[in-house]
Amino acid sequence: MSSVQIKPRDADDLTTAERVRILAKTARFDPPAAKLADGRRELVGLSREELLAELAAIGQKPFRAKQIWHWIYHQGVTEFSRMSSIARPLQEELAKQFVIGRPEAALVQTSADETRKFLFRFRDGQEAETVYIPDRQEDRGAVCISSQVGCTLSCRFCHTGTQTLVRNLGAAEIVGQFMAARDSYNEWPSPKGETPRLLSTIVLMGMGEPLYNYANVAKAMTIVMDNEGIALSRRRITLSTSGVVPMMDRCGSELGVNLAVSLHAVRDDLRDELVPLNRKYPIAELMAACRRYPAASNARRITFEYVMLKGINDTPEDARALVRLIAGIPAKVNLIPFNPWPGSAYETSTRAAIDAFAQIVMDAGFSSPVRSPRGRDILAACGQLRTESRKEGPRA
Ligand code: SF4
Repeated sequence: MSSVQIKPRDADDLTTAERVRILAKTARFDPPAAKLADGRRELVGLSREELLAELAAIGQKPFRAKQIWHWIYHQGVTEFSRMSSIARPLQEELAKQFVIGRPEAALVQTSADETRKFLFRFRDGQEAETVYIPDRQEDRGAVCISSQVGCTLSCRFCHTGTQTLVRNLGAAEIVGQFMAARDSYNEWPSPKGETPRLLSTIVLMGMGEPLYNYANVAKAMTIVMDNEGIALSRRRITLSTSGVVPMMDRCGSELGVNLAVSLHAVRDDLRDELVPLNRKYPIAELMAACRRYPAASNARRITFEYVMLKGINDTPEDARALVRLIAGIPAKVNLIPFNPWPGSAYETSTRAAIDAFAQIVMDAGFSSPVRSPRGRDILAACGQLRTESRKEGPRA
């Protein structure tokens, strides 16, 4: 039994009204319109319905939308002139009205361990980071994508949390990170079915809290999952949240992607400090939301992320409390040795403390891998991302 005594609010208390409030608040940080200064419309990031409507507006039939979708998301082309199934005059007309863009890779760094970090610059000059973490033995890899420029949440161990929220990323910018990372590895056309992929999974664990930008994240992931394009299955996408409880239900029922929860502490007093969102949605409510997460099963376990901070959250008592907390949830625990960044207040737990902690969790029947730090030398490891983008006063 959990030592936490707070009674969870009923799921119904956290539904419509609170979701509406969250969505209204996040809309204040909307990205700029996905258009060029010359008026050309960005096609990446449009839903199928929106693409249909854009093409209908220039007199094109629905099958054109299907063709163009295929060229953009399956073939990965960025020029209409390469769309060989479309006649030249229409290619030229499309190029006058539309653009197929990518975020600009302002900086690309590859770590000694082959982790690659991209600093992407968007059209308004704002920047966010994306990290590709290869698994060379298995010939695959994860793309860690950002959902916001900066973050509102100020988790104490996280470098991004020291950068105030500038704005949400749009669907084009979220999908664009994956597509641009793929350009960098030349992995077009999209591999089909079980064909191995170098960029095989997406983790929404970069800068920002994805559930505070749900509309754009959901739209982007729907595009990524579309079978006639990039076609990454929902099983290959993991959304990591620090615990925006009301949106977790919606994410589970609408997107059905895997869930990761940044837990990091097993007592409310400590989690209030490490993950300040806990003051709003305390541990008991978070756990209740995990228990009802629709997409969780033994085959698709919820990942609890737990950063190991020396002398803060890494004792055997903490491990035993963690096990009690997640009892009955199809779960695994990712132990993350703290990755220091300039000015960080914490130290990494000792290897002995991490191993002892992992053993207790494993003895209780949960898989408990210790994440080996990747890309530390280029500040690409978990919790180290940050850009220089700043908010320049309220937007009109
Ligand atoms: S851990 Fe995630 S939610 Fe917390 S400050 Fe960092 S980016 Fe934001």
